[in-house]
Amino acid sequence: MILITGGAGYIGSHVNKKLYKKGYETVVLDNLIYGHREFVKWGEFILGDLEDTNLLRLVFKKYPIKAVMHFSAFAYVGESVKDPQKYYLNNVKNTLNLLQVMLENNVKYFIFSSTCATYGVPEKIPIPENHPQNPINPYGKSKLMVEKILEDYSKVYGLKYVSLRYFNAAGADPDCEIGEWHEPETHLIPLVLDVAIGKNEAIKIFGADYPTPDGTCIRDYIHVTDLANAHILALEYLFKEGKSDVFNLGNGNGFSVKQVIQTVEDITKRKINFIEWERRPGDPPVLVGSSEKARRVLRWEPRYYELSVVIGTAWEWHNKLYRDFKK
Ligand code: UDP
Repeated sequence: MILITGGAGYIGSHVNKKLYKKGYETVVLDNLIYGHREFVKWGEFILGDLEDTNLLRLVFKKYPIKAVMHFSAFAYVGESVKDPQKYYLNNVKNTLNLLQVMLENNVKYFIFSSTCATYGVPEKIPIPENHPQNPINPYGKSKLMVEKILEDYSKVYGLKYVSLRYFNAAGADPDCEIGEWHEPETHLIPLVLDVAIGKNEAIKIFGADYPTPDGTCIRDYIHVTDLANAHILALEYLFKEGKSDVFNLGNGNGFSVKQVIQTVEDITKRKINFIEWERRPGDPPVLVGSSEKARRVLRWEPRYYELSVVIGTAWEWHNKLYRDFKK
């Protein structure tokens, strides 16, 4: 059985679905602060918080857990700057609780949701895994701290882990059962889709004077289903090879904010009004990852790499979200 913390969230729910389809049994643990109960359509569900070590002990006693996939974390960069304690307590301290109970129960396999935010301002593009890690906000620092803790734990406690550094997760389940639903929403693609659907007047472009071809920031948008597949490959790699490692997960292609807006116009056939706004503090001009290692070692092959496919699935989901969930 696989324990998925944060399995009611955006990426965790897609991984839960994939694991189920592959024949794995899963148990989702989520406090539903940001997750959605409706997204846990596969496996078992436990409402609870990683702060609660006794609950964790009960979960590990009740289920024959072989591996843990750890998604639960706070992930709002701006909020992490304003309230770092919230981030260190949830993202670091609660992860320590989880690892403690895993080790008590002799559970050795761990897949960790890390982030390209651990790199900070890139020195070179595309970013390889051995790029210096100098995160510039508490969110990125909290994830890097856990990466370092995993390194130390694996040396002495026999923990086997894979840290996956995501670039910009985007898109939705192609069957449209689950998708992106953040409250508040801060991500570019769903906010542009809010304009397409008529919920917002215009999208603010955070900076149109960057040193990029059209002046707007370039990001590496990776489809959430491709991310989910990489988690299964990482898990199976751990079971087979038993070797801890770190992988970037990105598309390898960068797209600018204006390209995203244009693609949304093409797909939705609606006009997207935008306002060129101030830069958002902490945004590097270009963030694109090299995922060559994941392709080579895990044999990962992203399938939904075209921006039109990423946005097409997101648009289908966005319509369903307003129709069926955010009523
Ligand atoms: N962005 C924007 N307007 C918005 C939200 C985001 O121009 O309302 C830009 C943001 O500055 C960044 C890109 O879109 O360059 C992707 O931002 P997002 O928050 O989706 O992901 P991040 O790169 O911060 O992880």
